[in-house]
Amino acid sequence: MISHLDYTRRRLRQASERLRDGLFTDTAPVAELLVSPRVDRISWRDAQSLDYRPAEIGERFGPLWATYWFRLGTTLPAEWSGERVELLWQSEGEGTLWRDGRVVAGLNTHHAAATVADSATPGELELQVELACNGLFGRPDRPVELARCELARWDATAWKTFHDFELLRTLESHPATDPSLAALLRRELERFVDTKDVTILEQLYALHNADYAHEIVAVGHAHIDTAWLWPLAETFRKTQRTFATALRYMDEYPGYVFACSQAQQYAWIKERDPDLYSRIRAKVAAGQFVPTGGSWVEPDLNIPSGESLVRQLLHGQRFFEQEFGTRCAEFWAPDAFGYTGQLPQLMRGAGITRFLTQKLSWNRFNKPENHTFTWQGDDGSEVLVHFPPADTYNSMADVNELLKTAHEHKNLEQSRTSLLVFGYGDGGGGPTREMLENLERAVDLQGLPRTRLGTPTEFFEALEAEDAVRPVVVGELYFEYHRGVYTSQAAVKRGNRRSEQGLRDAELIGVLRGDDYPRAELDRLWKLLLLNQFHDILPGSSIRLVYEDAARDFAELERGIEELLPPGPHPVNTTAFSRRDVVDGQMWEAEPFATAVQVSERSNVAIGRTPLTLENNHLRVRFDPDGSVLGILHKPTGREVLTAPGNRIELYDDDPVEFDAWDIDPYTLHTGRGAQPAEKWEVVTETLLRCEIAFERPLGEASRMRQVVRLDAGSPRLEFHTTVDWHESHTLLKACFPLDVRAANATYEMPFGYAERPTHYSTSFDRAKYEVPGHRFADLSEHGFGAALLTDSKYGYSCYGGDLRVSLLRSPKSPDPEADMGTHEFAYALMPHAGGWREAGVLREAALFNAPLRWTTVGPAEPFAIVDGDLVLETIKRAEDSDDLVLRFYEPYGGRGVARVHVDAARAWRTNLLEEEPQELAVESGAFVLPFRPREVITVKVAR
Ligand SMILES: [Zn+2]
Repeated sequence: MISHLDYTRRRLRQASERLRDGLFTDTAPVAELLVSPRVDRISWRDAQSLDYRPAEIGERFGPLWATYWFRLGTTLPAEWSGERVELLWQSEGEGTLWRDGRVVAGLNTHHAAATVADSATPGELELQVELACNGLFGRPDRPVELARCELARWDATAWKTFHDFELLRTLESHPATDPSLAALLRRELERFVDTKDVTILEQLYALHNADYAHEIVAVGHAHIDTAWLWPLAETFRKTQRTFATALRYMDEYPGYVFACSQAQQYAWIKERDPDLYSRIRAKVAAGQFVPTGGSWVEPDLNIPSGESLVRQLLHGQRFFEQEFGTRCAEFWAPDAFGYTGQLPQLMRGAGITRFLTQKLSWNRFNKPENHTFTWQGDDGSEVLVHFPPADTYNSMADVNELLKTAHEHKNLEQSRTSLLVFGYGDGGGGPTREMLENLERAVDLQGLPRTRLGTPTEFFEALEAEDAVRPVVVGELYFEYHRGVYTSQAAVKRGNRRSEQGLRDAELIGVLRGDDYPRAELDRLWKLLLLNQFHDILPGSSIRLVYEDAARDFAELERGIEELLPPGPHPVNTTAFSRRDVVDGQMWEAEPFATAVQVSERSNVAIGRTPLTLENNHLRVRFDPDGSVLGILHKPTGREVLTAPGNRIELYDDDPVEFDAWDIDPYTLHTGRGAQPAEKWEVVTETLLRCEIAFERPLGEASRMRQVVRLDAGSPRLEFHTTVDWHESHTLLKACFPLDVRAANATYEMPFGYAERPTHYSTSFDRAKYEVPGHRFADLSEHGFGAALLTDSKYGYSCYGGDLRVSLLRSPKSPDPEADMGTHEFAYALMPHAGGWREAGVLREAALFNAPLRWTTVGPAEPFAIVDGDLVLETIKRAEDSDDLVLRFYEPYGGRGVARVHVDAARAWRTNLLEEEPQELAVESGAFVLPFRPREVITVKVAR
């Protein structure tokens, strides 16, 4: 016998290819193949009345997003009687196989065979295929050509032999396989090729693991982006195809478990394909189709407000409970671009104790140090976290990824258990039979981790059963990548901020109005917002069609909110903060959640012409006619705020090496330059209560900016109301304020609180945070003094040294070539202050800046609620299941204390975020007392 490694391996590979070619050799053509005219996305019923014509193999179909319906008619050969029969369908598009009006399976490049009979009876067979002229990732690489359409007899022996052989062959050739085992496999596989004796393979499968081995729970999955390189309407069809395929494989592989997140996708199936939905329900009951995640969609987790994140979980968990009688114990967000430090607390509040993601494996500066750890949130709440060591939620379940899982797990001292999330994803598709065949063979085979199919819950239970002291990771999980997503698609960001504010106000006004609380409409609008917070819609990383849908949805939200908040004579302060505001040339004053009254104002504001200044009792601001701010004197402290001209409008070359809409690359920071000076200025308002100067300038190559700089009497905020006509390419627009403030960290508002991040690049962790997310404010404070940048619709900030910046607009060209082109309106403000951001009332100013007085039909005579103590009452709504009130508070500063809440309560209970697990609070004279800890989010149900 002549031993030669290269010859042997190439021979084994060739043998594998021959076995694969032999899987479907007994085929029969489809006798009649007809195709419809090009149509839109229509129902099966509507497709029955189309005119069909003969189609040919090799024919091409298009354009992108078009649909064609095919009719396949044939007679099954008599000799196939009792045999299993597959349809072999090859095209670059996404197909749906239908039979008798029911979805049978998805057909795509990875799922090119679908069963049409388990036990054939000779005779007529009628099938239909709905062909979408888009690939799993939107635009196909080639025109959609129908390359194959025929029937084949299922050869169970050939199928088994091929998979038996192929798994052992790939194990033999893997560099990490033990050399003795590899040599045995090589020898025996070659002997099999010589003899075709399948008992040789069977004997190899009798080789088992040692006593102690790494253990993998493998869960089938199909990450279906709710919109991305395809519009929402296609996503519904993706779910149909993917779920139908998964259901079929559950029958073939009784151990197969398919985990599926995002209640929204189930809700679409329920509404539009009741037959498929009933099949899903049956498999949920059987434990094979497993709802997971507990959220409405898999949202972005940087940009939505704390209340939005609560609603994602509230509506998700309620849906799963109502539809399937089950709640999710795992939060599932494998693909979001960073994880706010309040998530552990929010998960816990929604009955979730475990969390899965893998996205941080994409970090560009520091790879995560753990795959299994305890994540401690801002308030100290803990959840058990697992990052699958295969570093993917689209695992192929092959030898390579099974071994990677076992070998690259970073916490092997504490754990021998990993989750493998397998199946084609992003564009859906899901697991293939090949993956399931591999996993059936990897149950207990020497050289591979011990592997079983199971649910995420079974996996986490196995983890929890380990007697391990886990590493603890505290606070925000910042994603060191995709920093452009805080800014791309500015209209969506604006829509999000306005809708969050609007729904909040609508709930409050709904409660104030009394009996006719618009529950159904609020529910509908909230779910529309939650949908648009999906992790490729809100971040700005989708195609044009998605943003056309989003524009329609945000317009619908605006319209719906307006209808819930009809204009009226009462100016209501919907915020938790007392306020004084200039509106319509008058000064108004209001307590929290109360109607404003007109008051007189003793201080005033004035404009100076030479030099150009705005001045009130807080600030004296000097302008250059070019639009920059030469200096700001903060009168209460006597300090100059700036070290150099502020409101410096900057342009940067913003041309990332990849992921255009996603990334602001580090080298972008080298390319900053001041924009062109203002060409003209004019005084637009000059009263004792409000002064405004407008500056207009050209911007970049083809854009223009107009800023109305406003200072109101008595206001600590210098406001920049900005309109930009934006037509740049690969350019980032920022505004910079060089502050005379020195601090190692800046503070950024985040959901239900804040995050502190460095103002220097000392370590790789610091450098990675050169652009960070934030909500309504970013603040830089030293002891005794600081300044905050407030925004009405921006989420991208940076601070280096004393230079505090906000990112205003980007202009990526992919995947949406028209991203951000056109007119934008937004506002930001600088608020210098004595003391730190907490005692200076930065949060209050940020809230007021985002929530002008609402002129509406009901105005409470008394403040609706009064909170004595440092808790913010963020949300006032009706309970989901009764007419009780639900109040949501959060502790915003990182402090501890006791608050007294006056809300005219008869009885009150602390509950979880799902408004359950009531613990009664003592109520006295309509008020109750609420002890709180740092960063705590508290829900109270109130009966009045
Ligand atoms: Zn995704």
